[in-house]
Amino acid sequence: MASVLVVEDDQFVRSALIRHLTEAAHTVRSVGTALEALREVAQVGFDVVILDLGLPDLDGAEALKMLRGVTDVPVIIATARDDEAEIVRLLNAGADDYLVKPFSVAHLSARMAAVLRRTTGEFGGSGDSGGDAVLRVGGLVVDPQRRMAQLDGVVLDLTRREFDLLAYLAGRPGVVVPRKELLAEVWQLSYGDDQTIDVHLSWLRRKLGETAARPRYLHTLRGVGVKLEPPQGEGGRI
Ligand code: CA
Repeated sequence: MASVLVVEDDQFVRSALIRHLTEAAHTVRSVGTALEALREVAQVGFDVVILDLGLPDLDGAEALKMLRGVTDVPVIIATARDDEAEIVRLLNAGADDYLVKPFSVAHLSARMAAVLRRTTGEFGGSGDSGGDAVLRVGGLVVDPQRRMAQLDGVVLDLTRREFDLLAYLAGRPGVVVPRKELLAEVWQLSYGDDQTIDVHLSWLRRKLGETAARPRYLHTLRGVGVKLEPPQGEGGRI
């Protein structure tokens, strides 16, 4: 069972997708434009996005680029164009998989399952000692195995990247983690701009109910890195 965002302007295809995905016990939200999709992914942590390439407001490649700018959610492209060069370009631009219309429900389900297996298996793995232990920092509980985080008993609705970032920092409480290390370990990038980290940090902060000016758990040290520690003076425990 997954939380799915369907981005599709064709009412017929959209209804069919919603019906089939709901029948398969997935939670589905749907929008008809790229801009609505961007707004949705910024607010809700989906497990997977099914993105139609022919949207009325933005070209599919452009839509994918903008999605990738704000989220790391797995994206399956649904396209009517069986154009190999275009598909390769989209996969290189960050799409996780693609389907050429018309596709069967069974085909879609199989692709979704494969993408979800890949993306959820990426963190921690299984059977490894220590890596999957539940992390506790003050009132924050992070469970890498179940990919669940709670703050003071309330489950946090985090995107995949926000969760990875939080889990990485929670595994090193009180330690200033250099931005370079975050890029390498959380984003698997050898270089990148600080904005990527800053944007995700600000979203994470909002979800933790704090601000950069009045931090509780997340502390940014200009030009050095980021540190997660229990709030001072609140009797936090690690
Ligand atoms: Ca379309």
